[in-house]
Amino acid sequence: MHHVTATAEVSANSRYLRSQQERESSARSYPRRIPIAIAEAEGIYVRDMDGKVYYDCLSGAGTLALGHNHPVVITAIRELLDQKAPLHTLDLTTPLKESFVDELFASLPPSFASRARIQFCGPTGGDAVEASIKLMKTATGRRSVLAFHGGYHGSTHAAMSLSGTLGQKERVNGLMPDVHYLPYPYTFRCPFGSGGAETERLSLNYIENVLRDPESGIVPPAAVIVEPVQGEGGSIPASANWLRELRRITKERDIPLILDEVQTGLGRTGKLFAFEHADIVPDALILSKAIGGSLPLSVVLYNERYDVWKPGAHIGTFRGNQLAMAAGLATLRFIKEQELPERARLLGERLQHRLDALADRQDCIGDVRGLGLMVGVEIVDGREQPDRLGHIPASPRLAAQIQQECLKCGLILEVGGRHSSVIRFLPPLIITEEQVDEIIDRFSEAVQAAREALSC
Ligand code: PMP
Repeated sequence: MHHVTATAEVSANSRYLRSQQERESSARSYPRRIPIAIAEAEGIYVRDMDGKVYYDCLSGAGTLALGHNHPVVITAIRELLDQKAPLHTLDLTTPLKESFVDELFASLPPSFASRARIQFCGPTGGDAVEASIKLMKTATGRRSVLAFHGGYHGSTHAAMSLSGTLGQKERVNGLMPDVHYLPYPYTFRCPFGSGGAETERLSLNYIENVLRDPESGIVPPAAVIVEPVQGEGGSIPASANWLRELRRITKERDIPLILDEVQTGLGRTGKLFAFEHADIVPDALILSKAIGGSLPLSVVLYNERYDVWKPGAHIGTFRGNQLAMAAGLATLRFIKEQELPERARLLGERLQHRLDALADRQDCIGDVRGLGLMVGVEIVDGREQPDRLGHIPASPRLAAQIQQECLKCGLILEVGGRHSSVIRFLPPLIITEEQVDEIIDRFSEAVQAAREALSC
């Protein structure tokens, strides 16, 4: 039997972590890299059980648009609790749900909203991905789906089948069949061994050719699913032009285009929805994370022409989370009133600008990229020669060390992307200029300390 001796030397964090390690599944992920137990959180700050305060630039993997426990969110939740409103309604409607849908539809471009339907899904992003694929398969009668290298859409069976993450997939048999992968415009590690604008052009040519070639081996797809900025894949933005062209290519062939805005949605990229940068209209839009204002909620919005479902074709018990609708509605209103998308754009520029300056001094920073407050820094081994495709070797070891040094100086950052070598900045949209500067100062110190620790 396990025995914890609570001596003064054993930190509170480590007691919780040990217990977690013994009882939770070995699929635990964040606690391995961010080994803390959280006591309190407010805005961009979290305090661990040992009293240490951190800047939280992980924000619940991009969920906490307003940071932790924002007053408008807390007030909305309190008010609902005081009203004797139901907390759980299946998919029955309520005045709150009505207001939530009103506000969401009013936030979408009119050309999309005027013909949109909404499906409330089970509470996670992955659930909404599943629903969107089922919907488009039903509507088109087709069976294949096109996704992108480096994409991430969730950990459920079908969502994982559509994701690049081999680490999750390789030991699971019988994934969803008929998924095919297309090249994303990842210029830094160009899949064609090129780079810059050429990557984008070649990827579009490839996609167009696959869809037009009668011997491509891929039957006409039920849908193309894409993230406007790849999140887990390493904060890789697709340009507005690339998205517009993808829209043209899919539209010409009557292929539904599903945009997964689980991570980019609600202002993070500098527009309320990332597809607005490209001025396109998707056939389906998947939202989760920020839309629940820190509580679980997910929806698919889609053009009514695809609304062919029979009653009950897609159900689920937890689709009426009223607390999440209250928190999400308050969050959406606040984001719009305070013009937080514009703030995300400006502060994202400041963040990237300061990171670019750091990259000039540190050759282990191979690339700085992103859109709004969704920024990635790719860590490479600058001493190594590029490979045959011109890719500089990634340095997952240094990236992990930087993440640990950041923690030491009170900064929580995510590491992800190809070869786990991209440091990801996903701060809340309410971050201030001073906080951006402080975060970069700490990050710069951490990069230096990590290099010294590994003598590289
Ligand atoms: N799509 C994207 C773009 C995501 O970033 C994520 C989560 N990181 C998901 C889907 C899956 O969401 P969830 O973890 O809530 O299932």
